Order: sequence, then structure tokens, then C-alpha cells
Amino acid sequence: MRNYRVTGPVEVPQHTLAAMSTRMVSHRSAGFRELIGAITPRLGTLFGTEGAVLPLTCSGTGGIEAVAASLLRPGDRVLSVQLGYFGERFADIATHHGAQIDVLAAPWGQIVPTERITERLALGYDAVLLTHNETSTGVIAPLGEWARAIRAVSDCLILVDAVSSVAATEIGFDALGLDAVVTVTQKALACPPGLSLVAVSERALARAAEPGEGSYYLNLARAAEHARQGTTTYTPALSVLYALDTALAEIEKEGVETVWERHDRTALRCREALRAQGLTVVPDEANSSPTVTAVRLPAPADAERVREVLAAEHDVWVSSGRGPWKSEVLRIGHMGPVDPDDVDACALAIGVALRSAATPVGVARTGV
Ligand SMILES: *Cc1c(COP(=O)(O)O)cnc(C)c1O
Repeated sequence: MRNYRVTGPVEVPQHTLAAMSTRMVSHRSAGFRELIGAITPRLGTLFGTEGAVLPLTCSGTGGIEAVAASLLRPGDRVLSVQLGYFGERFADIATHHGAQIDVLAAPWGQIVPTERITERLALGYDAVLLTHNETSTGVIAPLGEWARAIRAVSDCLILVDAVSSVAATEIGFDALGLDAVVTVTQKALACPPGLSLVAVSERALARAAEPGEGSYYLNLARAAEHARQGTTTYTPALSVLYALDTALAEIEKEGVETVWERHDRTALRCREALRAQGLTVVPDEANSSPTVTAVRLPAPADAERVREVLAAEHDVWVSSGRGPWKSEVLRIGHMGPVDPDDVDACALAIGVALRSAATPVGVARTGV
């Protein structure tokens, strides 16, 4: 069976896929109000909020753009805390919407120390952009520690890309005083792509309703207005909402906190299995992500080549490194209901593939 360990879209359980064959209803109907009315508060549990969680029909990048377009205004001073590729992209999107960005970046594979953030924020900013789980490096940020420290020195908007962490670990939206947190269906929620889910604070919604918003479609104020009426602004990805309803029921059956612990355990098992193959996990143990493991291959291994061998010979699918890590790092995804045996099998296959990667794929195949 395919061992699909990419960082998204992830493998979707059969019953979640089956839910997508449910019949269409109008998003202006009582049936839809019931569906969305059942989904939203349960999403709130995952984010840790009793406030609005808005479903937008777009990928995660769309949710992030909705946040930038609705909550930032041209000339706003924004601090971008970057741990890798997705942190850079968040800043690009904010820049596109006219924000004046200052960057605080960690070397890839590391985090930005909390006191560096609070020192900078003392200079006065309208918003800070954070990445909770940096999918490009396999690093999880200490979001709780960051947010509490930020709140102690600044009342700036705290805007968080949590695309690859919501449903895999605790967020604590209300308790931490966050203003916007973005996730998506195709990562730890283990649904097909199609919806971005955005938790928004009351004061962020008030800001969104002020004139000067930068997007007609990705408009959080209008989305919130419609959510209050049990509908969406425009036609939603309805089939993905059916999938989400089922996926949430599965998470509740297991227990939200059990799901979070399971992600930690599976990630730990993945790191241990890789080390047992003599390989190096890039981030420090303390910052290692519960959903993505970045493993460095010994030189002169060619990561792209190893990835090909893994797929062709083992039916194991992983993601390549990004940017500066392209040729030497593989990223293993373990989001959603992953069988721990699959991360063991993946690590083992990487070990075998590394040893056989010196042999061209065609030659290796003739032996099968
Ligand atoms: C996947 C991902 C995104 C982008 O999401 P899309 O749905 O591909 O637009 C953004 N940020 C992080 C951290 C991600 O893992």
C-alpha cells in the first residue's frame, strides 16, 4: 500500500472521501445552516476559541492573503518573524498589500529567540506575523511563549500561519490573545484541499470592517457577517465541508487531546527511526515539529534521486527539501491519522534507498 508521507495534501481516510459524495444543498438553505452550525463550534475547539472561525474557499495561501488584505492597511508597520520559506511568503503577501515589513529571521532549522521579538516590538508595530509550524524546516515555534511575551509588551495584532499545526497540536487562540490564525483542510485535518479556515478575534473583525480592505473576495468582514447568518459569502467548497464534518467526528471520537499527543508520539517515533538508520534530524529536539520531520542525508547523497528511488522501489512518498535544503534534505509528513508503523517503514525505506541510490533506478529495477 502507498505510504504517502508528503507534507500535503495528505492521505485522506476512505470514510472522509466517501462523505464527499453527499448531495448538494444551497448555501442559503436550512440544511446548510445546520451543517455549518455544527462545524464551526467544533473547529473552535481545535483553535481554542469561542469566537469566529471562518471557512474560505481557497487554499491556505488564500486564507493568509485574506488576513493580510483584511487586517493590514498600506503603510502599517509589520514585524515578520521568519523560520523558513512559509514565513518569507507570509511577509511577501503582506508586502503585496502595502505593509512596511521588518524581518526577524532565524537560520533555517532554528527558531527566533523570544526576547529578540519583544526587543523589536518595543519599537512599535501594528502587527506581527508568526509561523507556528514551519513546514519547510520541520520546526515548531514556541507559540505560547512568543504570544505571552508579545502581549506583555505590545497590543499589536498577532497574525499566525498555523496551516500545518491546527488539529495536530494545541493553539490556545483565546487564552493567548491571538488575532488571526489560519489553517487549511488538506494538512492535519486530513481532508481534501479546498477550504482555508481562519480564526479571527473581535478586535481583528472590527479592524477588517474599517475602510480600505484590500480584497473583494478574500474579505473577512463580509465572511464574518455571513457566518453570523449561518452561511458563506459565496458558494463554498461544499463537498470539502462534508469531508470536514466527518473528519471532525473522527477527531472527537479519538479525543482532541489524544490526537495532539498522538501527533507528538508519531513524530518522536519518526525521529527515532531515522536516527536508527544513522541519519540526522535537522532541528533540535525541543523545536521538532509534530507534523513534519526534516532529515539531512549524508553527503554526497542527492535528495531528489533518493526521493525517486523511494517512490519507484518502495511506494514511499516524501517531500523534498525547499530552497537552500533542496539537494540534501527530505521532509516526511505525519499529519492526520497516520499509522506509526508507516513512519517506521518510511525511515527504513530511506535507509535502504540511500544504500541503493548509487545504482541507477533502471538497473535496480531489473533485479525485481
Ligand atoms: C502548506 C502550507 C501553506 C500553504 O498552503 P496552501 O494550501 O498550499 O496554499 C502555508 N503555510 C504553511 C506553514 C504550510 O504548511
